[in-house]
Amino acid sequence: MPNIDDFIRPKEWVSDFVTDIGKVLREWGKDKYLPVRQNIDEDWKHHKIVEPLLKEVLVDLGINAAFFPYEVGGTDIPDVCTLICILGEEGARIDSGFTVACLCSVWPMLPIILKPHRNMKLLEEFGPKFCGSELYVGCNAMTEPASGADIENVDRMQGRTIQTTAKLDGDQWVINGHKIWPTNSGDTANLYGVVCTTKKGSTDLDDFAFIYVPADAKGVSVGGPYQKAGMAADMNTDIWFDQVRVPQRYRAHGPGDDLKYFKEMITYGNMATAAMCLGVMKNVYEIIKKWTTERIIAGKPLKEHSMVAAALSDIAINIEATSAWIHMYAREVDRPDIYGTNPWDDTLVHKTRGLSTFACKAVEKVCSSAMDYMGSYGYSREFDLEKHWRDSKMLGLWMGGLGLKQMENARYWYELETL
Ligand SMILES: Cc1cc2nc3c(=O)[nH]c(=O)nc-3n(C[C@H](O)[C@H](O)[C@H](O)COP(=O)(O)OP(=O)(O)OC[C@H]3O[C@@H](n4cnc5c(N)ncnc54)[C@H](O)[C@@H]3O)c2cc1C
Repeated sequence: MPNIDDFIRPKEWVSDFVTDIGKVLREWGKDKYLPVRQNIDEDWKHHKIVEPLLKEVLVDLGINAAFFPYEVGGTDIPDVCTLICILGEEGARIDSGFTVACLCSVWPMLPIILKPHRNMKLLEEFGPKFCGSELYVGCNAMTEPASGADIENVDRMQGRTIQTTAKLDGDQWVINGHKIWPTNSGDTANLYGVVCTTKKGSTDLDDFAFIYVPADAKGVSVGGPYQKAGMAADMNTDIWFDQVRVPQRYRAHGPGDDLKYFKEMITYGNMATAAMCLGVMKNVYEIIKKWTTERIIAGKPLKEHSMVAAALSDIAINIEATSAWIHMYAREVDRPDIYGTNPWDDTLVHKTRGLSTFACKAVEKVCSSAMDYMGSYGYSREFDLEKHWRDSKMLGLWMGGLGLKQMENARYWYELETL
């Protein structure tokens, strides 16, 4: 009898080891998360349930450490993009909001973790904290009140709208600015990766700076959590930086390279988003398969009606297509030696924008279509579909939103010159 493990996953690219890590997360979710999944919405403000669970995954299951080098206490698992996709998929099958909180912990560290551009000095400083026995969480602070999309739209805006400034004063950066929305903001994060400009209004790409700021640095303050339609396990707040001083070495790399590896981070964000869409769709498949098998309408199981079978087929097709596409691109990101494209190249940013667009549209369609055939039951909290339906909308809104994703994808395939 086919199940979620029968959808495409190329065994020659996804090692048994990485598949097993995904299974560990799946089992953990079954035992620890699913019993409380329906209570997470009420936990949005204080994260009394979420925070201990975050510790179990990031610390006890070793998900933070999976990405860091051995020398600083990590387990340095290879094929990072594939690993992120498996974690994103397995996690989002349980809860995409919780998964984004987990994955965003290490997301801002990628510019200094990924090979061949590791910054060992910073890793020696921050790595042991991420890999230790206490919960230590990262947060990627890009979005500002004026426009999140403009900040991610580096090719056209060239950083000129970034309002958060970093000025060098002796051997310290002085940071001033206001970020909104970042995953793990509020009281969750211990370390921010902050997108700054060293010269407000500049279009010189060398002025783009990515600087690490400990959450307890003097001058950092946060607002209260936003109440959202879903994704309650992800905390999102304002963050203010007022004359915050950090050592000069906290800049990820330096002029030019900060932007280069920021772009790589965007590619990973697109891939993780697509993987989360896949995980949600797989859980929706499980829910709708059970429902349409057990629900008897007009004397036979609901799935045996031709209109329903057509909708069920569409759900399976969307899962197959998304999964195949994810693993193909993950391979391109992980193996530049075979495909000849650096993971920080615009080509991969723009192509993965297309994958992310496809996956975000697919997951919305899948959730909505499943609800069509569960009727009012699908809309009730008891059957979990409505949670995925609410959460899945967000998967398309972050990372610059659908407009930017499509525009950047068209930019590559059609060589757009003005958009
Ligand atoms: C749950 C959640 C988690 C988040 N996590 C993070 C995080 O970890 N870090 C972080 O920094 N931010 C995060 N965000 C913020 C999110 O990334 C931004 O909201 C998003 O990038 C869009 O920015 P915006 O809301 O300012 O939209 P805007 O910039 O106002 O854009 C609105 C719409 O216009 C479209 N658009 C923009 N430019 C163009 C154009 N030239 N042509 C056509 N359409 C265009 C956009 O694509 C978008 O659809 C998160 C938000 C939420 C809700």
